[in-house]
Amino acid sequence: MVTARFWRENPSRYNLTAVRCGSCGRILFPPRSICPVCHRKSLGKMKEIKLRGEGEVLTFSVVHDAPSQLDKIKPYVIAIIQMDEGVRLTGQVIDCDPSDVKIGMKVRSTMRKLGEDGQAGVIYYGYKFAPV
Ligand SMILES: [Zn+2]
Repeated sequence: MVTARFWRENPSRYNLTAVRCGSCGRILFPPRSICPVCHRKSLGKMKEIKLRGEGEVLTFSVVHDAPSQLDKIKPYVIAIIQMDEGVRLTGQVIDCDPSDVKIGMKVRSTMRKLGEDGQAGVIYYGYKFAPV
């Protein structure tokens, strides 16, 4: 069901759309209709916001053993990014050498091709992160 989940969340992946809970102020990405902290109190109070797309590397790992479709880009870096708004996103860090990636490094999201479904001919896009 990974694919279904991907497509359901796809609009927010394109736009970095999150929601802010009107009750506790927590920001959630991908957007949800109910805050996991406030539950019923948050009903109807979730307000859509757009993440600015900037943050810093919280932690990362360099992937040397990639699935075959990612063979030509390895080694590559997958990082958890602490966005300026406080939410954490996981994504690939690009446009730099894996050895240049450091904890605390400032990055900005950028829209890139994530992959393609060869049989369906579908190419899908999402965010990756590049050094600022
Ligand atoms: Zn809340």
